[in-house]
Order: sequence, then C-alpha cells, then structure tokens
Amino acid sequence: MNHQQHRDISQLCIHTITTKPWKIEEAAKNFSEAGIKGITVWRDALEGRNIRQTGNMLQKHDLTIVSLCRGGFFAHKELSKRKAAIDDNRRAIEEAAELGTSMIVLVCGADPSQALEESRKQIRDGIAAIISEAAAAKVKLAIEPLHPMYADTRSAINTLAQANDMAEELNSSWVGVAVDVYHLWWHPFLEKEIKRCGENKNLFAFHICDWKVPTTDLLLDRGLMGEGCIPVKQIRSWIEATGFTGFNEVEIFSTEYWKEDQSEFLRKIIKAYKEHS
Ligand code: ZN
Repeated sequence: MNHQQHRDISQLCIHTITTKPWKIEEAAKNFSEAGIKGITVWRDALEGRNIRQTGNMLQKHDLTIVSLCRGGFFAHKELSKRKAAIDDNRRAIEEAAELGTSMIVLVCGADPSQALEESRKQIRDGIAAIISEAAAAKVKLAIEPLHPMYADTRSAINTLAQANDMAEELNSSWVGVAVDVYHLWWHPFLEKEIKRCGENKNLFAFHICDWKVPTTDLLLDRGLMGEGCIPVKQIRSWIEATGFTGFNEVEIFSTEYWKEDQSEFLRKIIKAYKEHS
C-alpha cells in the first residue's frame, strides 16, 4: 500500500469503553451498521446481563469478540487480597469463555506500599496460578505493559521488555503480550522489543489511540489517531513486520469524546483509523 491510500476497516476493532455512553447492545448495532468487524468488551459493559446471551448477540451482529478487558490486579501486600485477585481472574476466564472470546487483557496491578519488584513477583505468581484454567477454557492471557505514570497502583509492568521477560519466563502458549501505543510509544527500544515479542509468538493484541499535546488528564484524555504525537503508522508497520494479522483495537478513554454524540464520534474514529493508523 502506498502512503496516499487509506486502509480499509476489516481489521478495525473498537473497545466498548471507547463509546462508553452506549450500552453494549447499542454499540453492537452501531458498529455493525458501520461495517466494523471486531469488538473488545469491558467487563462493566456486561453488568446485569446474561453473558452467554450477550456474546450471542454480538456474534449475530457479525462481530468478532477480540478480547475481554480486563483481568489482572494481582499485586497486593496482603495475601488475602492476592487470593481474591486470583479468584477474580478465574471468574474473568469463565466470563470470557461464556462470552465467546479467546483472550483476556491483563492490567497487572501494583501496590504502592511495596517495591515494584515485589509487585512483579506477585504478578508472575498470579498469572502462573491461572494458566491451567486459561488453557482449559482456551482463553489467552495478554499482559499489557502500562505507561510508567501508572506504576503506583495500576501496573508494575511498564516496559515492553518487562512484559516480554515475564511472558518468556512463564513460557506458556496461553500467555503473551498486548502492545498499546499509548503506553509504549516513548519506549527507546520499541521496534526491537516488538520484534522480540513476535519472534517468541507472544504478540497477542495491538491497541491504538493517540497522546494529545498537551494531555490534560492522565487517564481520560486519550486522543484519536492523528491528533497527537504517537507515530501510529510506524508502530503498526513494526507490528505487521512480525507477521501479526490481528485486529487493531481502538481504545480511547476521553471525557471530551464521551460528551459528544457517539454516532458522530464513531464516524471520527473510522476516519482517523483510515487516515492515521
Ligand atoms: Zn490497551
């Protein structure tokens, strides 16, 4: 493809949280009518619903359920909380299987009352504890490294190198990595680590959005592709160089965009995807 052509949307997936004001039923209908083929479901979108029926509803809209977001939060100083987290991840595996998806994204967790190194050990042990259930349910676990600004409470896995290290140490075909451009665009060895991730068959998922300049909120001010400073196309070229042919998942948390008419926002997502990703 030359750089003047725009991509088609056959690999476009959208996270339910991106269009948070829509109930999952509305999202499914509107995504489907726009020709979108992939959806990643956040667990809050399933609240109060029969999960199996919701999965069937999505499939009737011809949507591939790319993943369930999210499991993780394994790191806690207290043993009781670590055990509760493992139980919650087992429930997430059951939910993923009922929903009809083959992947869970892991936001691995961190506890600011202990060293990051300790949190990482707990994350490794937590994932190791659920691999057999994941394998039995045929649900893959994708470790998502988060930007270091979230190292206090959300994740002690902050670089792609750390995620690769952990996936390789756990050495299971059920454990891999989710690469999110928002978290990793600054990474000094990103191309090399993406290559490594692919070579070890650990590249499970690819999330896209943009980093707005200035960013006014460190959680809820993500931008559309092309609106900020992330070289999304370049990163995608590195992802595809590994042989990755999966969905490109648009994951945008934005109080600004959630205030807009979501149908208009969906049109902007598709335009931004075609032109800037
Ligand atoms: Zn992500």
